[in-house]
Amino acid sequence: MPGLFTDYRRQASGKQSSSERIETTMKKVLFIDRDGTLINEPMEDPQIDSLDKLKFTPGVFTWLGRIARETGYELVMVSNQDGLGTASFPEETFWPVQNMIINTLAGEGIHFEAIHIDHSLPHENKPTRKPGIGMLDKYFSDQYDLKNSIVIGDRMTDVEMAKNLGATCILINDGSLQQKVAEMGLSSVCQLITHNWKEIY
Ligand SMILES: [Mg+2]
Repeated sequence: MPGLFTDYRRQASGKQSSSERIETTMKKVLFIDRDGTLINEPMEDPQIDSLDKLKFTPGVFTWLGRIARETGYELVMVSNQDGLGTASFPEETFWPVQNMIINTLAGEGIHFEAIHIDHSLPHENKPTRKPGIGMLDKYFSDQYDLKNSIVIGDRMTDVEMAKNLGATCILINDGSLQQKVAEMGLSSVCQLITHNWKEIY
């Protein structure tokens, strides 16, 4: 089966029709979640506040690296970091991990044009917190092709954020959320459910 990005790799290589060329002047974005997507998020201890807890997801370097190098997508990180900056999650425990992630991925050609991190807690219901799109105003412009942009994330909030953006979603999941996606009427938003980075490519 051809990968999801086959067409985009073809476009990026210049083998495209004139109508495709007009569309590609608008930037397509991959909005990429961090925890559970780029790195493992342990269920029992989801706050990644030390380098000991940092583990990248299998295949992310190879396959996201190829997507980054071979397609024209702009990469943007969007992450909820519950209570970041409070006593329970001081910033000085966050940044060494975050910087390690960014620098390690950059070494594989994976560069983020922007990084949006919400610090709030769920009960605050902030519009900036996923699935809210309060941090993403700038992408609603004629410079960006949101319809053909993709959210990659591991939670239902990532799928909902894709819907809120008018984009689609790749859900990093073993299939256990498939029914939930259908129940919430999000099957058309969710173009792929997989926990295998190779399948995404
Ligand atoms: Mg996540």
